[in-house]
Amino acid sequence: MPERSGAGKVALVTGSTAGIGRAMALALAAEGFSVVLNGRRAEAEAKAALSEVRSAGGDENSCIYARADVSLEAGREALFEAVRARFGRLDVLVNNAGISTEGRRDMLDLTEEAMLRVLRTNLIGPFLLSSRFSDLLMNGEGARYMVNISSISAYLPSVNRADYCLSKAGMAMMTKLFAARLAPYGVRVFEIRPGIVRTDMTAPVAERYDRLIDAGLLPLGRWGEPGDVARALVAVVRGHHDYSTGEVINVDGGFQISRGAL
Ligand code: NAD
Repeated sequence: MPERSGAGKVALVTGSTAGIGRAMALALAAEGFSVVLNGRRAEAEAKAALSEVRSAGGDENSCIYARADVSLEAGREALFEAVRARFGRLDVLVNNAGISTEGRRDMLDLTEEAMLRVLRTNLIGPFLLSSRFSDLLMNGEGARYMVNISSISAYLPSVNRADYCLSKAGMAMMTKLFAARLAPYGVRVFEIRPGIVRTDMTAPVAERYDRLIDAGLLPLGRWGEPGDVARALVAVVRGHHDYSTGEVINVDGGFQISRGAL
């Protein structure tokens, strides 16, 4: 069997006890990475994810859970310390933790507090966390990656989710910034842009998306699954995109293809 791409390496996936993050953590463990799971919940509530990822990695020691809120400086610091103390290195940082708009308010009614909540979690937190981990990434050996999970909302305006759209558009620039800053150190930076993926985040609007997909919204005609995003990440960490950095990988069933008739 060929050596797995993650053998002897460490990956951190933020917001990884559920949804897309959990699928990516499982895929990275299957690739042989030691995986740092992260979430805001107490460790007891992350037990299922932890044991699932440990079995995927085939090793009890291959996965730890670090409870931390990435939107808070203390949380980011705790996460950094957990990784440094346990492993002393980081090869893959996946900025996945994210929240949706609260209540889908019209953009003209957005409050500063609501905007800051989304921006702190989806953009400012990931940016500062990436800065904090940059030394470890830059000074490592072999292939190292940062992967930011944005959204089709990075380019698609939804007037009742302006805060979310702004945060994801910001993440697109964050990807380019870190790609430029870390390229001299051999760290590649990617943005994965999922479309409509079946997770807790989309559960409240699932029926609406079902109707839109049935009506032909997506060229590939089906919901995205967390595994679709995880497979795109695996291609990155296996080095299949190694002559690229700052690149966007759309995982959206073809949503970004404009099909307007001329
Ligand atoms: P989810 O709600 O299932 O998972 C998000 C995870 O992030 C949760 O486990 C949550 O607890 C965690 N999280 C939230 N805030 C956090 C914080 N401050 N600190 C640490 N952890 C935190 O949603 P998901 O669909 O799996 O979303 C994952 C990422 O994918 C998000 O960034 C989301 O914006 C993005 N995305 C999702 C979709 C979709 O259709 N589901 C589409 C495009 C992009």
